[in-house]
Amino acid sequence: MSKDALDNANFYFETAAKELGLTRDVAVQLRTPHRQVKVECNIEKDDGSIGTYVGFRVQHDNSRGPFKGGLRYHFEVDDQEVTALAQLMTWKTSVVGVPYGGGKGGICVDTRQLSEGELQRLTRKFVDGIYEVIGPTTDIPAPDMYTNAQTMAWIFDQYAKYRGYAPGVVTGKPIELGGSLGRSAATGRGCLFACQNLLGALGDTLAGKRVIVQGFGNVGSWAARLFAEQGAKIVGIADISGGYVNAGGIDVESAIAHVQAHGTLEGWTGADAIDGAAIVTQDCDILIPAALGGVLTKENAGDVAAKIIVEGANGPTTPQADEIFTKKGVHVIPDIYANAGGVTVSYFEWAQNMQHFYWEEEKVNTELERIMKNAFTKLWAEATTRNIPLRTAAYVVGVGRVHQATQLRGV
Ligand code: NAD
Repeated sequence: MSKDALDNANFYFETAAKELGLTRDVAVQLRTPHRQVKVECNIEKDDGSIGTYVGFRVQHDNSRGPFKGGLRYHFEVDDQEVTALAQLMTWKTSVVGVPYGGGKGGICVDTRQLSEGELQRLTRKFVDGIYEVIGPTTDIPAPDMYTNAQTMAWIFDQYAKYRGYAPGVVTGKPIELGGSLGRSAATGRGCLFACQNLLGALGDTLAGKRVIVQGFGNVGSWAARLFAEQGAKIVGIADISGGYVNAGGIDVESAIAHVQAHGTLEGWTGADAIDGAAIVTQDCDILIPAALGGVLTKENAGDVAAKIIVEGANGPTTPQADEIFTKKGVHVIPDIYANAGGVTVSYFEWAQNMQHFYWEEEKVNTELERIMKNAFTKLWAEATTRNIPLRTAAYVVGVGRVHQATQLRGV
């Protein structure tokens, strides 16, 4: 699974390297991660036993700015998956033009098996293992799957014990600790802007479009809410408990309230329950994968009904599926652009922390919209002039800028 994630990231990178005419030595230089850290995290469990977990931080590239990327707690996390995700971050920050490089972290753990206290101890142990390589001007973690504002608060606090007050060491913090207004909605809002930009280029709008969202955590639930607010009809959602479809339109707020009360969609009665994996092939106009990677494959791509795919998740589409989508004329808005709203508002949060001066939410959303629009204009121009899919165009822009920065800095 995770070796696949790395193979897929490398495949997309190589496509762009070829398109850009990069020499082999330069391609190898750009692709190779800068630093890979692996730490043992021992904690005392609530029952008195010892829990041992392995955590990773991979710093892929910092030619354009400090390493930047999320921290994932999941039982499938390993060094290859984290390396793949770190590489995606390098191209993503470059695509939207924020002054960061790319990094990613993770701990191999099933958070459902840990209490809140155990999670806090695990997070602090992880910081003990990596504090020397992170910091506001070196590497700045943020939330990803199964981590959230509380996790970032613990990291901020543990890091402060070593280095003093430095809110810019993590983003996605609670507002009370220097978080930014608009950060929790940012990735879903960025997906909305990305989709609206594509629809605009195609001479279409979101009104009445039938949308399915896979994953109903931070990204998926915000995307569902914001797409619905803009006149789309949410006809299917899914989370770890399964899939839920309602052709008449889902009441997104009731689904969100259920998850807030119960943790997952399990037992929610606002739609018909179906097998979770089948959600991606249900009838709709727009599909938003917003959970795990590798969910759109050569096995199911032919059955995907959507004409637009907005990659809220990182790495949801395998190269074989991507090829099928291109042949079918499906527009895939690639992860390194579609879900870049999160890192963009993380940049705003970090800038506010560095200046100790805080913005109104309206300014955050307006600036996010501007950045997503500018990035799309560039991607669309590359895609149309070179006659390449949007994903390749995004990689051409992302890799191209990192290449320029690397050349300017020298070996
Ligand atoms: P989250 O932990 O808030 O939510 C994850 C969701 O996925 C949950 O609803 C969970 O039930 C669901 N899920 C887990 N396994 C599933 C399965 N097998 N089938 C269907 N659903 C399943 O995580 P998140 O922050 O929303 O991240 C989701 C995706 O978006 C990840 O790929 C992440 O890398 C990407 N992403 C997140 C951000 C961010 O700002 N949080 C930014 C960019 C990209």
